[in-house]
Amino acid sequence: SSSEEPGTDEVGTDAVDAGAVVKPVVAVVGRPNVGKSTLVNRIIGRRAAVVQDVPGVTRDRVSYDARWNGRELVVVDTGGWAPDAQGMAAQIAEQAELAIAAADAVLLVVDATVGIQDVDEAVVRVLRRSNKPVVLAANKVDDQRTEAEAAAMWNLGLGEPFPVSALHGRGSGDLLDAVLAALPEAPTEVFDAPRGPRRVAIVGKPNVGKSSLLNKLAGQKRAVVDNASGTTVDPVDELVDIGGVTYQLIDTAGIRRRVKEASGHEYYASLRTQGAIERAEVCIVVIDASEPITEQDLRILSMVEEAGRALVVAFNKWDLTDEERRRYLDREIERDMVQFTWAGHVNMSALTGRHVDRVGTAIEGALAAWETRVSTGKLNSFLGRVVAAHPHPVRGGKQPRILFGTQAQAGPPTFVLFTSGTLDPQYVRFVERRLREDFDFQGTPVHLEVRARE
Ligand code: GDP
Ligand code: GDP
Repeated sequence: SSSEEPGTDEVGTDAVDAGAVVKPVVAVVGRPNVGKSTLVNRIIGRRAAVVQDVPGVTRDRVSYDARWNGRELVVVDTGGWAPDAQGMAAQIAEQAELAIAAADAVLLVVDATVGIQDVDEAVVRVLRRSNKPVVLAANKVDDQRTEAEAAAMWNLGLGEPFPVSALHGRGSGDLLDAVLAALPEAPTEVFDAPRGPRRVAIVGKPNVGKSSLLNKLAGQKRAVVDNASGTTVDPVDELVDIGGVTYQLIDTAGIRRRVKEASGHEYYASLRTQGAIERAEVCIVVIDASEPITEQDLRILSMVEEAGRALVVAFNKWDLTDEERRRYLDREIERDMVQFTWAGHVNMSALTGRHVDRVGTAIEGALAAWETRVSTGKLNSFLGRVVAAHPHPVRGGKQPRILFGTQAQAGPPTFVLFTSGTLDPQYVRFVERRLREDFDFQGTPVHLEVRARE
């Protein structure tokens, strides 16, 4: 049956404004042909393609991950729009304005060999209004001779021009040092995943079969005590080998001891469950498939989602279900669990051992999704495709736009979209659904944060 497989796409997570930490963003602006794309390629180490011919937003705004002196940043290339026609200055100024609004610092590129142009001055006016730190690159200074021409760029009134040759790399180190210096303080590193055995919590209301599952899992192989890895294991935890992978099972004492204690003390049981979920990276929520899904089951699922943990739903006591019960269960899932269709599902029996092995596979899949990191380049070509195919509806004569996005955090995947104008919540959910489909986030909540700039 279809519920045999892990759940499919669909979304339940709303946009959060939890203030995820994002790598600092540098917008590279300037009129066409001054060498912005060449310079961006130089900054990112020529790894990415020069021009990505994706229709829609990414055509005029492509962003990449970069690293300089151990510092991570996102570089937004605002080059690439058609250098034609009248009104170009206005168009460029507008484009630049959007990118500038979303950036932490701006790298203005001018062509030292042709001197200051009207368009350069238009961009400078925008920069002044933005109050963002600006670093001025006088490009195409390929040799000593041209350096004098770079000095003429002082006249833009933006301070010292950095003479560079994007083509040959000349001066680009000093330029990048200046860019880093202009950025706000480095955020604390959020990308370091904790190492050691993965932490798993088995949770669920009383009598659904948690301790039976624990015994089955622990019984498959010996429970190991692993001091060699140097990881601290809480005395109430056990290290268990599941499908050849060592996991730290959280609060196993609580599960084993439970019997009399938990009954009648639902409040404390709930606190204990909450604590186990918080400590875990992935949760197995055990549900008794032979009985109707209850409020308490749903509450525990919500706790996992809200904590941002990876999730596997184990429908236990499958041996007690008949055709009719399974039909009812399908309906209950459809009605009550739409919010959790992203979770992995296993229909199992701790008593007979049916599909207990699949629990291990599901945990692994959910954790992999939970820790997924999408590069800024990949994310933005995805956003470009989605937005080109399904632009945001016009609201009050204006079209809210996604300027670019970046992944701020893994575990769970947390994305920040920079936009001009406010996106409809339905549109955010639509983007999130597509994100799930494209990057296969089965088994993990996904957070999307939207930062609107005007
Ligand atoms: P963009 O439109 O601002 O992104 O400019 P491009 O990066 O596409 O560069 C425009 C042209 O200028 C290309 O032919 C580049 O090869 C050339 N160019 C870029 N940087 C330099 C440089 O430092 N020196 C010289 N001589 N040419 C450059
Ligand atoms: P816990 O309170 O969630 O830890 O649940 P237990 O593991 O103590 O199980 C509660 C009761 O359900 C016990 O009588 C178990 O033998 C029984 N049980 C657990 N798993 C299954 C199962 O898959 N099938 C059947 N038929 N009974 C089960």
